[in-house]
Amino acid sequence: MGIKRGILIGRMQPPHNGHLEIIKQSFEDIDELIIGIGSSQMSHSQSNPFTAGERVLMLKKALSEQKIPGDSYYLIPIPDIMKNSVWVSHVENLCPKFNVVYSGNPLIQRLFKEKNYNVEIPPLIDRKNLSGRDIRFKMLNNENWEEFVPKSVLKTINKIDGVNRLKEISSKEINEI
Ligand code: NAD
Repeated sequence: MGIKRGILIGRMQPPHNGHLEIIKQSFEDIDELIIGIGSSQMSHSQSNPFTAGERVLMLKKALSEQKIPGDSYYLIPIPDIMKNSVWVSHVENLCPKFNVVYSGNPLIQRLFKEKNYNVEIPPLIDRKNLSGRDIRFKMLNNENWEEFVPKSVLKTINKIDGVNRLKEISSKEINEI
Protein backbone atom coordinates (compact mmCIF):
# COMPACT_ATOMS: atom_id res chain seq x y z
CA MET A 1 0.00 0.00 0.00
CA GLY A 2 1.25 3.52 -0.79
CA ILE A 3 1.87 6.38 1.58
CA LYS A 4 -1.26 8.05 2.96
CA ARG A 5 -0.70 11.78 2.69
CA GLY A 6 -2.97 14.54 4.00
CA ILE A 7 -3.09 18.29 3.51
CA LEU A 8 -4.06 21.10 5.89
CA ILE A 9 -4.16 24.64 4.52
CA GLY A 10 -4.31 27.66 6.79
CA ARG A 11 -3.12 31.23 6.94
CA MET A 12 -1.58 30.48 10.34
CA GLN A 13 -1.43 34.18 11.31
CA PRO A 14 0.09 33.11 13.67
CA PRO A 15 0.28 29.31 14.12
CA HIS A 16 -1.47 28.56 17.44
CA ASN A 17 -2.05 25.62 19.77
CA GLY A 18 -5.23 24.60 17.87
CA HIS A 19 -3.26 24.22 14.61
CA LEU A 20 -0.57 22.22 16.40
CA GLU A 21 -3.12 19.93 18.03
CA ILE A 22 -4.88 19.02 14.78
CA ILE A 23 -1.54 18.53 13.05
CA LYS A 24 -0.54 16.06 15.80
CA GLN A 25 -3.92 14.30 15.62
CA SER A 26 -3.72 13.95 11.83
CA PHE A 27 -0.68 11.69 12.18
CA GLU A 28 -2.96 9.07 13.79
CA ASP A 29 -4.49 8.59 10.31
CA ILE A 30 -1.79 9.49 7.83
CA ASP A 31 1.92 8.92 7.17
CA GLU A 32 2.74 12.38 5.86
CA LEU A 33 1.14 15.82 6.09
CA ILE A 34 1.37 18.77 3.73
CA ILE A 35 0.92 22.02 5.61
CA GLY A 36 -0.06 24.69 3.12
CA ILE A 37 0.71 28.25 4.24
CA GLY A 38 -2.32 30.02 2.77
CA SER A 39 -2.30 33.61 1.45
CA SER A 40 1.48 33.32 1.32
CA GLN A 41 1.78 36.57 -0.63
CA MET A 42 0.31 38.50 2.30
CA SER A 43 2.27 40.13 5.13
CA HIS A 44 2.50 43.36 7.11
CA SER A 45 -1.26 43.84 7.34
CA GLN A 46 -3.62 43.71 10.30
CA SER A 47 -5.12 40.36 9.25
CA ASN A 48 -1.87 38.96 7.88
CA PRO A 49 1.02 40.41 9.84
CA PHE A 50 3.61 37.66 9.22
CA THR A 51 5.42 36.76 6.01
CA ALA A 52 5.25 33.25 4.54
CA GLY A 53 8.90 32.76 5.53
CA GLU A 54 8.21 33.73 9.13
CA ARG A 55 5.22 31.37 9.25
CA VAL A 56 7.32 28.52 7.80
CA LEU A 57 9.96 29.15 10.47
CA MET A 58 7.41 29.29 13.31
CA LEU A 59 5.76 26.04 12.20
CA LYS A 60 9.06 24.23 11.61
CA LYS A 61 10.27 25.10 15.11
CA ALA A 62 6.90 24.28 16.73
CA LEU A 63 6.78 20.89 14.99
CA SER A 64 10.31 20.10 16.06
CA GLU A 65 9.36 21.12 19.64
CA GLN A 66 6.55 18.52 19.39
CA LYS A 67 9.09 15.91 18.19
CA ILE A 68 7.32 15.52 14.86
CA PRO A 69 9.96 14.12 12.49
CA GLY A 70 11.07 16.55 9.78
CA ASP A 71 10.63 13.94 7.04
CA SER A 72 6.93 13.44 7.82
CA TYR A 73 5.67 16.84 6.66
CA TYR A 74 6.04 19.47 3.94
CA LEU A 75 5.63 23.20 4.54
CA ILE A 76 4.46 24.76 1.29
CA PRO A 77 3.56 28.43 0.80
CA ILE A 78 0.38 28.77 -1.30
CA PRO A 79 -0.38 32.21 -2.75
CA ASP A 80 -4.04 33.11 -3.32
CA ILE A 81 -5.46 33.24 -6.82
CA MET A 82 -8.48 35.18 -8.04
CA LYS A 83 -10.45 32.12 -9.22
CA ASN A 84 -11.89 29.77 -6.60
CA SER A 85 -12.99 27.34 -9.33
CA VAL A 86 -9.38 26.50 -10.24
CA TRP A 87 -7.82 26.89 -6.77
CA VAL A 88 -7.69 23.12 -6.14
CA SER A 89 -5.65 22.66 -9.37
CA HIS A 90 -3.38 25.48 -8.17
CA VAL A 91 -2.85 23.65 -4.85
CA GLU A 92 -2.26 20.34 -6.70
CA ASN A 93 0.33 22.06 -8.86
CA LEU A 94 2.31 23.25 -5.81
CA CYS A 95 2.12 20.13 -3.64
CA PRO A 96 2.93 16.42 -3.72
CA LYS A 97 -0.14 14.22 -4.32
CA PHE A 98 -2.45 13.83 -1.30
CA ASN A 99 -5.38 11.56 -0.41
CA VAL A 100 -7.17 13.44 2.34
CA VAL A 101 -7.92 17.09 3.06
CA TYR A 102 -8.28 18.41 6.63
CA SER A 103 -10.18 21.67 6.91
CA GLY A 104 -12.67 23.45 9.11
CA ASN A 105 -13.12 26.12 6.43
CA PRO A 106 -16.43 25.61 4.53
CA LEU A 107 -15.13 27.11 1.26
CA ILE A 108 -12.09 24.83 1.25
CA GLN A 109 -14.26 21.82 2.10
CA ARG A 110 -16.60 22.61 -0.79
CA LEU A 111 -13.85 23.24 -3.36
CA PHE A 112 -12.07 19.95 -2.57
CA LYS A 113 -15.31 17.92 -2.38
CA GLU A 114 -16.25 19.15 -5.86
CA LYS A 115 -12.97 17.61 -7.07
CA ASN A 116 -13.87 14.33 -5.32
CA TYR A 117 -11.38 14.57 -2.48
CA ASN A 118 -11.98 12.89 0.86
CA VAL A 119 -12.48 15.86 3.24
CA GLU A 120 -12.20 15.48 7.01
CA ILE A 121 -13.34 18.20 9.41
CA PRO A 122 -10.99 18.36 12.42
CA PRO A 123 -12.61 19.13 15.80
CA LEU A 124 -12.33 22.77 16.88
CA ILE A 125 -10.29 23.08 20.06
CA ASP A 126 -10.93 25.92 22.54
CA ARG A 127 -12.14 28.16 19.70
CA LYS A 128 -12.85 30.94 22.20
CA ASN A 129 -9.11 31.45 22.62
CA LEU A 130 -7.54 29.56 19.73
CA SER A 131 -8.23 31.65 16.66
CA GLY A 132 -5.72 33.77 14.76
CA ARG A 133 -8.08 36.76 14.81
CA ASP A 134 -8.50 36.66 18.61
CA ILE A 135 -4.78 36.21 19.18
CA ARG A 136 -4.01 39.23 16.95
CA PHE A 137 -6.71 41.23 18.78
CA LYS A 138 -5.12 40.36 22.12
CA MET A 139 -1.67 41.35 20.83
CA LEU A 140 -3.04 44.73 19.79
CA ASN A 141 -4.74 45.29 23.13
CA ASN A 142 -1.92 44.15 25.41
CA GLU A 143 -3.96 41.17 26.59
CA ASN A 144 -2.51 37.77 27.37
CA TRP A 145 -2.00 35.89 24.06
CA GLU A 146 1.30 34.18 24.83
CA GLU A 147 -0.21 31.03 26.34
CA PHE A 148 -2.22 30.26 23.19
CA VAL A 149 0.76 29.73 20.88
CA PRO A 150 3.61 27.20 21.05
CA LYS A 151 6.72 28.44 22.93
CA SER A 152 8.79 28.53 19.73
CA VAL A 153 6.14 30.68 17.99
CA LEU A 154 6.21 33.09 20.93
CA LYS A 155 10.02 33.25 20.71
CA THR A 156 9.97 33.94 16.97
CA ILE A 157 7.30 36.64 17.27
CA ASN A 158 9.34 38.34 20.01
CA LYS A 159 12.53 38.04 17.94
CA ILE A 160 10.99 39.76 14.92
CA ASP A 161 9.27 42.38 17.12
CA GLY A 162 5.98 41.02 15.78
CA VAL A 163 3.63 42.67 18.27
CA ASN A 164 5.06 46.14 17.59
CA ARG A 165 4.85 45.44 13.85
CA LEU A 166 1.17 44.59 14.22
CA LYS A 167 0.55 47.67 16.36
CA GLU A 168 2.36 50.00 13.95
CA ILE A 169 0.65 48.73 10.81
CA SER A 170 -2.72 48.91 12.57
CA SER A 171 -2.31 52.46 13.83
CA LYS A 172 -4.03 55.23 11.94
CA GLU A 173 -2.26 58.19 10.38
CA ILE A 174 -3.00 61.43 12.18
CA ASN A 175 -5.12 62.68 9.30
CA GLU A 176 -7.24 59.48 9.40
CA ILE A 177 -8.29 60.01 13.03
P1 NAD B 1 -6.74 29.36 9.58
O1 NAD B 1 -5.30 29.45 9.96
O2 NAD B 1 -7.74 30.25 10.24
O3 NAD B 1 -7.28 27.87 9.81
C1 NAD B 1 -6.71 26.76 9.18
C2 NAD B 1 -7.36 25.49 9.72
O4 NAD B 1 -6.94 25.31 11.07
C3 NAD B 1 -8.90 25.53 9.78
O5 NAD B 1 -9.45 25.01 8.59
C4 NAD B 1 -9.24 24.65 10.96
O6 NAD B 1 -9.45 23.33 10.51
C5 NAD B 1 -7.97 24.68 11.79
N1 NAD B 1 -8.19 25.42 13.06
C6 NAD B 1 -8.21 26.75 13.26
N2 NAD B 1 -8.47 27.04 14.56
C7 NAD B 1 -8.60 25.84 15.19
C8 NAD B 1 -8.88 25.45 16.54
N3 NAD B 1 -9.11 26.34 17.51
N4 NAD B 1 -8.95 24.14 16.81
C9 NAD B 1 -8.75 23.21 15.86
N5 NAD B 1 -8.50 23.50 14.56
C10 NAD B 1 -8.41 24.81 14.24
O7 NAD B 1 -6.75 29.53 8.01
P2 NAD B 1 -7.89 29.84 6.91
O8 NAD B 1 -8.24 31.28 6.92
O9 NAD B 1 -8.98 28.82 6.95
O10 NAD B 1 -6.97 29.58 5.62
C11 NAD B 1 -7.49 29.25 4.40
C12 NAD B 1 -6.52 29.72 3.31
O11 NAD B 1 -6.95 29.20 2.05
C13 NAD B 1 -6.49 31.23 3.19
O12 NAD B 1 -5.16 31.64 3.00
C14 NAD B 1 -7.32 31.48 1.93
O13 NAD B 1 -6.98 32.67 1.25
C15 NAD B 1 -6.94 30.24 1.13
N6 NAD B 1 -7.89 30.01 0.01
C16 NAD B 1 -7.60 30.64 -1.15
C17 NAD B 1 -8.47 30.51 -2.24
C18 NAD B 1 -8.10 31.24 -3.51
O14 NAD B 1 -6.98 31.74 -3.58
N7 NAD B 1 -8.98 31.33 -4.49
C19 NAD B 1 -9.62 29.73 -2.13
C20 NAD B 1 -9.88 29.09 -0.91
C21 NAD B 1 -8.99 29.25 0.17
